[in-house]
Amino acid sequence: MNILVLNCGSSSLKFQLIATDLERIANNKDARLAHGQIERIGGAGIVTLIADGKTSHRSATPVRDTKSAVETVVRWIASETSGIDEIKSLADIHAIGHRVVHGGERFRQSVLITEEVLCGIEDCIELAPLHNPANIKGILAAREIFGGIPQAAVFDTAFHQTLPEKAYLYALPYQLYRRHKIRRYGFHGTSHRYVAYRYRTILNLPREQVNVITLHLGNGCSIAAIKGGNSIDTSMGLTPLEGLVMGTRSGDLDAAIIEFISSKEGLTVQEVETLLNTQSGLLGISGLTNDMRELLAEANESGDRRARLAIEIFCYRASKYIGSYLAAMNGAEAIVFTGGIGENSAEIRRLICERLSWLGIELDAQLNESFTGGREGVIGADAARLKVYVIPTNEELLIARDTARLIGESKPSG
Ligand code: AMP
Repeated sequence: MNILVLNCGSSSLKFQLIATDLERIANNKDARLAHGQIERIGGAGIVTLIADGKTSHRSATPVRDTKSAVETVVRWIASETSGIDEIKSLADIHAIGHRVVHGGERFRQSVLITEEVLCGIEDCIELAPLHNPANIKGILAAREIFGGIPQAAVFDTAFHQTLPEKAYLYALPYQLYRRHKIRRYGFHGTSHRYVAYRYRTILNLPREQVNVITLHLGNGCSIAAIKGGNSIDTSMGLTPLEGLVMGTRSGDLDAAIIEFISSKEGLTVQEVETLLNTQSGLLGISGLTNDMRELLAEANESGDRRARLAIEIFCYRASKYIGSYLAAMNGAEAIVFTGGIGENSAEIRRLICERLSWLGIELDAQLNESFTGGREGVIGADAARLKVYVIPTNEELLIARDTARLIGESKPSG
């Protein structure tokens, strides 16, 4: 089955075309046929289309809206110039899987999209006002272009719906939860679920025996405590702002700081929130960049003090979270690094793990250095009580698999 995975943002569209035939997946072979993105939708348009191992196309072409963006992608996939042998026409794309950011308390797992589901995603707009409307636009655009083929929604929040009350409730007046559903939802759920699944596949463990702490360290960062295969705590909250230090987000802070900045700097609450989301984190501390690779180069090669400080704060916060999740879980078997930073930076992994030697973490320095560019496996010393893994994430593959599974389940058997 060929599944088009769409991740629609407010001004961008990312896609992957994935073949989910069972043989390739069983061998964990790369099932991706094509991928790419369209940026600056509604403006100049930067189009990148890549047929894996075959062709690539880059251009600056104005793209009016989300529907035009999806059309651009689909027209290219089905064209001869793309060189994708598996797709001769639209009919060879069998289903669409959408990444949907917020599923609130309603969506605990991936679902096939019906009118009712669409209303449910709309109801969650107030929880994710920037993201869910863009996801809905993508669903409607695909529906117009493809007619009635199955579409599935895979939610960033769904995996964390197993959090117990004590982990998801804030210590606020309870009626705020009742009235407005203010609680911890958590994000990056598809990534945490994927690496937990890979972990148990590598170790050949039943799901109930998966007790790990997963760290998704990319431009956005979050950490999850996974006990008995379920997420029992995670660092992002009502929105993705809470938790670890990120590229441009502050992560945890004293809530009173918002009023303080507002009055000192003459900013509205909305403006302070934008500052916390877009001008803080690694970028805010260093004053240089939100890009960890650049920051490491500045710190190591130019000896930039604030670049070093940003890295230190980033790693310190991550180590503290690991310690607290070990307490929340009453121990774990392993920690797992993923995301652009987690998969590629031996230095960041080392700095985070250094502070945890007391807990039994021991990195094999040489092994750690050798893990970049998609390598999967263990980087801790064999005897360590708490193992350390690097597992590259693949949210799109999970979205494609969920979509294929849901279609299989919806077909009458016999
Ligand atoms: P993501 O959002 O998962 O694509 O991750 C993006 C982040 O990963 C950026 O901060 C990149 O600088 C960082 N990154 C990618 N490769 C490396 C690397 N080799 N060393 C350090 N950071 C990296």
